[in-house]
Amino acid sequence: MNTATSHQLFTAALDLMPGGVNSPVRAFKSVGGEPFFAKRAEGAYLIDVDGNRYVDYIGSWGPMIAGHAHPAVLEAVARTMRDGLSFGVPNALEVTMAQTVQRLVPSMQMMRMVNSGTEATLSAIRLARGATGRTLLVKFEGCYHGHGDSFLVKAGSGALTFGLPNSPGVPKALADLTLTLPYNDFEAATKLFDEVGSEIAGVIVEPIVGNANCILPRDGYLQHLRDLCTRHGAILIFDEVMTGFRVALGGAQSRYGVTPDLSTFGKIIGGGMPVGAYGGRADLMRQIAPSGPIYQAGTLSGNPVAMAAGLATLELIQAPGFHERLEANTHVLCDGLEAAARDAGIAVTTTRTCGMFGLYFTDRQVETFDDAMASDANAFKRFFHGMLKRGVYFAPSAFEAGFLSAAHGETEFAHTFEAAREAFREARAG
Ligand SMILES: *Cc1c(COP(=O)(O)O)cnc(C)c1O
Repeated sequence: MNTATSHQLFTAALDLMPGGVNSPVRAFKSVGGEPFFAKRAEGAYLIDVDGNRYVDYIGSWGPMIAGHAHPAVLEAVARTMRDGLSFGVPNALEVTMAQTVQRLVPSMQMMRMVNSGTEATLSAIRLARGATGRTLLVKFEGCYHGHGDSFLVKAGSGALTFGLPNSPGVPKALADLTLTLPYNDFEAATKLFDEVGSEIAGVIVEPIVGNANCILPRDGYLQHLRDLCTRHGAILIFDEVMTGFRVALGGAQSRYGVTPDLSTFGKIIGGGMPVGAYGGRADLMRQIAPSGPIYQAGTLSGNPVAMAAGLATLELIQAPGFHERLEANTHVLCDGLEAAARDAGIAVTTTRTCGMFGLYFTDRQVETFDDAMASDANAFKRFFHGMLKRGVYFAPSAFEAGFLSAAHGETEFAHTFEAAREAFREARAG
């Protein structure tokens, strides 16, 4: 595979940007080697600057659920941009977007558009704190909520351990306000609430953990969190930046039948443009400026071109049977990968939901963060490079979920399984 142009670009980029990238995981640091530079993308494929084609199982980390460069999305963007890129006054697409989101996710009684998932989660916790007058925030080991200071807190060794920043630059005084819990542990959550429940402003959780690979909630776990929050007057925030519109039209909250007080969205809601959203209970959202005292704003929030891309994507995923097909395909992919691993004699387990999956080099059933951490990271590295050189791109980290789009089908799966049979053998042999 010729990657000369990517290599030249990356060499130049290393002097210009930290790690040569604008977002850390892209740098391939945890798998070794150098990233390729995209020239364009179509359907299930990324095409790099040297002309290599890759079956893409990341989909820009989630947004491209309809497939890359979908004509309907591109057309909506082109049509909208001819009227201007940004107005700084309200535009009709913002209303259409809010109506669409509310119809698909009924708990979103009121909402705000922002420009990224990070902005959405930061705004949601400010609201939770402002509305309750409390300061403590609860998050879960292995969950990622963007790069806000309060979220960059390492998992403590116990439920009551006060957090330590895992990033320099996060003041200890702030990190101390973030408590971490082990995901899927009923007892630990109960115990924490018994001890400090009256001081907890909010609980933020990825209802399906997609940032420690892919960990599904145990039966009743999300309802357990709901009950604890209700009992202790804390705000339950579902961070659906990844799961929203993906695991079901109504997100994980509809899939599991648990209603949060606030939700955050990103990725799919922008269809590939920089968009995030937060919202939920009207009585809470009315406390946001200018109708209330809790401040949050954005120069480009509700940008018309971004709204158009998001709306076109939300339109596509409402096609009858869209998620059913996506889910069936996710099983085809995961079953095929497990079969290829068995043929190669290497222990691999998968977790999967609709359009989202985890691949682990372990024989354990993965239900917790510790299970996920037991995956053999070196075997994953060899597998990753084995797939890449055969034109299949998985996330360059053993702890990121994989994504499918509606454009992935039999042709892509056949190619993937053929590559995987060899790559699993190489992964084992290392
Ligand atoms: C990606 C992600 C974020 C952060 O979104 P950005 O747009 O990258 O700021 C937050 N929460 C979850 C669950 C995510 O997957």
